[in-house]
Amino acid sequence: MKIAMIASEIAPFAKTGGLADVVGTLSLALERLGHELCLIMPAYRTVLKGGFLLEETPTELSISMGNRTANGKVLTGRLGQGISVYMVRSDPYFDRDYLYGTANADYPDNAERFVFFSRAALEILRNHPADIVHCHDWQTATAIVFLKTQRERYPETAAARTVFTAHNLGFQGIFPASLWPLLDLDRSYFSPQYFEFFGNINFVKGSLLFADKITTVSQAYAKEIMSPEQGFGLEGVLQQRATDVVGILNGVDYRQWNPAIDPFLAEHYTEKNLTAKRACKESLQRTMGLPEKASLPLVGMISRLTSQKGFDLVEKAFDKMMAAELQLVLLGSGERRYEEFFSAAASRFPNRVAVRLGFDEALAHQIEAGADIFLMPSLYEPCGLNQMFSLKYGTIPIVRAVGGLKDTLEDYDAEKRTGTGFVFSPYEADALLKALHRALKVFQEKQAWTALRRRAMSRDFSWERSAQAYSDLYQELIR
Ligand code: ADP
Repeated sequence: MKIAMIASEIAPFAKTGGLADVVGTLSLALERLGHELCLIMPAYRTVLKGGFLLEETPTELSISMGNRTANGKVLTGRLGQGISVYMVRSDPYFDRDYLYGTANADYPDNAERFVFFSRAALEILRNHPADIVHCHDWQTATAIVFLKTQRERYPETAAARTVFTAHNLGFQGIFPASLWPLLDLDRSYFSPQYFEFFGNINFVKGSLLFADKITTVSQAYAKEIMSPEQGFGLEGVLQQRATDVVGILNGVDYRQWNPAIDPFLAEHYTEKNLTAKRACKESLQRTMGLPEKASLPLVGMISRLTSQKGFDLVEKAFDKMMAAELQLVLLGSGERRYEEFFSAAASRFPNRVAVRLGFDEALAHQIEAGADIFLMPSLYEPCGLNQMFSLKYGTIPIVRAVGGLKDTLEDYDAEKRTGTGFVFSPYEADALLKALHRALKVFQEKQAWTALRRRAMSRDFSWERSAQAYSDLYQELIR
């Protein structure tokens, strides 16, 4: 099968979050299953300056965007054994400091940038026809609509079956109606039956209506998005398409996230020999300027700083959390209010709280290895990767029972000696604190904690199973 993945970020070329990991590693796993893959993404500044081996192609893109034409070129990169990665180069759109804007302000022309990208991707596919066109999130949602409603423009790919993956329904690509001409679609599609969403244009809504299959990144989230709390206004459309909505849990690339071989770590350890985890903890404490105390439980967090990730709850619970004997290390970037809160917290507790604002791949790995506990109290969580990384690193997650967190963790049960983490349900500070105190208590029981760690480390969320599920879905569509 020939599969084209169209996505706005793909690891290792450009990444702001889980989407990039998922598209990159899923593609590699699908290639291992014998499929032919081609990936399409924008040539951002991070791509152009990232030291990747890229080649120019003769393809010239010329795309009608409302009342003007936008031009671009195509570069190619490589991934895996033989995956071509086509990168749409248009420097005015993509040679910028950020992928989408800062955490506090999106670029004002994001609709235009990603409509251009989606059209460009379909132009590229005219020369590389695929059986399956798989689009991810709002940035590429319109590609599916263009393909389905303007078949005459893309005759080579017109028969392709389409899959849309919603990685996070909190981001739908909602733009003012005045931008409609950019889409170059018949005006009749700007109606509540299609793209219109309370007077605005909603890219994801369009895609949910036209995609042959809709997937999301965990089974629990596939159910949750049918409800008003998590459908963010699209629950009706999703209910309408319910028979075509499938939840497939993301996997982990254990060649990158494995404490036995992780190149970012001071020392390596395995499930059978956990001794070196202590050295990783010491090294993390040193890096973060915290006292090197083995006996103090170290809580780690790595996250976009947004309300989705449960930071309101952490703020509320914070003083009571700090009443316990623990150290906290946070790596993240995002909304200014949370950045300010955690910077102030680090000043208040210089020996117990250390905060690094920014994006730092190496430190992310070092926190996974060096922390004892990983805190992820998300308000909602389509899948979540860090809790799965944490399990592999023997760093026990405390999570809220939502979405992928619910699907990947079992609550600890002291009597039955089962469970891999500490799970709480109500979105309330007290519930978080209760889970934390349960974890801290077990942390003091050396044997139980080691057994819990080993159980966590033995869980397997490798991509193979998930890639097979996608492969089956594609086969079903082609049949
Ligand atoms: P989301 O995609 O919603 O942000 P996920 O848990 O699915 O959340 O994936 C987040 C990915 O981004 C993980 O690989 C995580 O390690 C990484 N990440 C998040 N913030 C940072 C950061 N500040 N520095 C390095 N890596 C980060």
